[in-house]
Amino acid sequence: MCRELTAGREAVGGEQTQRGLWARGTLALHGGLRVAIALMVCLGLMTETQAAEPAWKVGVARADITPRTSVWLAGYGSKRAPDGQLHPLWMKALAFEAASGERAVLITSDFQGVPKSMSDRVFARLKEQHQLDRAQVMFTFSHNHCGPRLGDDLIDYYPVDDEQERLVAEYTLLMVDRTVDLVAEALQKLAPAKLQTGAGKATFAVNRRNNKEAEVPAIMARGEPLKGPVDHAVPVLRVTRPDGAEVAILFGYACHPTTLSFMTWCGDYPGFAQLEIEKRHPGALAMFVNTCGGDQNPLPRRTVELCEKYGRELAAGVEGALEGPLEEVGGGLRTAFSLVELPYLKVMSADDLRQVQGADPEGIRGRWSRRLLKKLEAGEKFEEAYPYPLHAWRLGGRVLMLGMGAETVVDYALKFKGLYGEGTWVCGYADDMISYIPSRRVWEEGGYEGGSNLFEYGRPALRWRGDMEEIISNEMSRLVERVSK
Ligand SMILES: [Zn+2]
Repeated sequence: MCRELTAGREAVGGEQTQRGLWARGTLALHGGLRVAIALMVCLGLMTETQAAEPAWKVGVARADITPRTSVWLAGYGSKRAPDGQLHPLWMKALAFEAASGERAVLITSDFQGVPKSMSDRVFARLKEQHQLDRAQVMFTFSHNHCGPRLGDDLIDYYPVDDEQERLVAEYTLLMVDRTVDLVAEALQKLAPAKLQTGAGKATFAVNRRNNKEAEVPAIMARGEPLKGPVDHAVPVLRVTRPDGAEVAILFGYACHPTTLSFMTWCGDYPGFAQLEIEKRHPGALAMFVNTCGGDQNPLPRRTVELCEKYGRELAAGVEGALEGPLEEVGGGLRTAFSLVELPYLKVMSADDLRQVQGADPEGIRGRWSRRLLKKLEAGEKFEEAYPYPLHAWRLGGRVLMLGMGAETVVDYALKFKGLYGEGTWVCGYADDMISYIPSRRVWEEGGYEGGSNLFEYGRPALRWRGDMEEIISNEMSRLVERVSK
């Protein structure tokens, strides 16, 4: 407790004194009185909350994002008109403010994929209305395949008609407004809070590249190990008010929310996990981030029972972490952000596109090549690289929250946690859906996540250049250095 007082007093100074309890006349500090108060605190005559400026203020908010129109469900490339809902879809915001006044906002959501054209509008408005830089906002999506389509995400993937496009455009506009309002509400609710962190475990994610789905139940029944790298960690961040009331429980897991493929709105396993956690912790907001689950699937799958089971298993992993020991997150917040240019292996030419079109005129490739050919014919030139978003947030000395755009494979989480140590979170699916982001290993192996898949996402190329892991890792290292000084 004495250590807490020291830390609190060190944080007071300059502009920060405007914010602290000390400076608001709650306690007049000078000379002997200051020493006397310090002694009283050490003797346990005052509580920590009365004695020190809070290291953190936190505000949370949530918004229902369940579509009210026939926007299709996203993620499988087919027509999936909604037929009802198992539970509402949510978007949630967690706003942090350190004693220094530095702020950051994490948005989590039940969206399948947020496209750049949508998140850019949100970032611009948050800058204009709340002076939040891009470094201070991470807009994550769970990659829920029972969530709605948005804007031009997976633009050529679905056999849509004009009416569906109109509904999706209308819904996307509404969601831009809702995201901005959500963040405003979370900022408005900033109030003193304590942050604690820990980690649990859940084991249902299976490396889908290394295990054939149909064989998984038999392998499990024989008690044999499944193959390939996985990340079964469940990082947890608990937010409480000074009176002990739980405000938010943020947790992560690396796995595709693809247990279900039907037409009913729900949050897949993360949705069930959040409901279960909120049931066990009344008043707290449960929030989920997908931590590099690009090559991970919940297997076996395809029934609501399995989906609920995985939700309960993940919630149990969170409970395991909450049972402790939890470590308190000290004060201080630093954020850094970068858009790094990720080069394509080869940008498509008009001849390339015509060839592709001939081979698959009615499918995804046909729609993709037709759209891109029109652009070329109109004189447009394709970019050779894509601006890939990377975040690094340092909370206290302990927590390093990294954010990566798109569908990152599990290798990135394992690598960065190895490099940067305990307390590192690696959130995939941040800011922009883009495509799969293979590691060097997965790129060399090829296959679904590592090979020629960029057409599915509407990019003007088939593959990334092979050095994308090196480019990403080098940039992440620079960001981590910036927030660690
Ligand atoms: Zn995916």
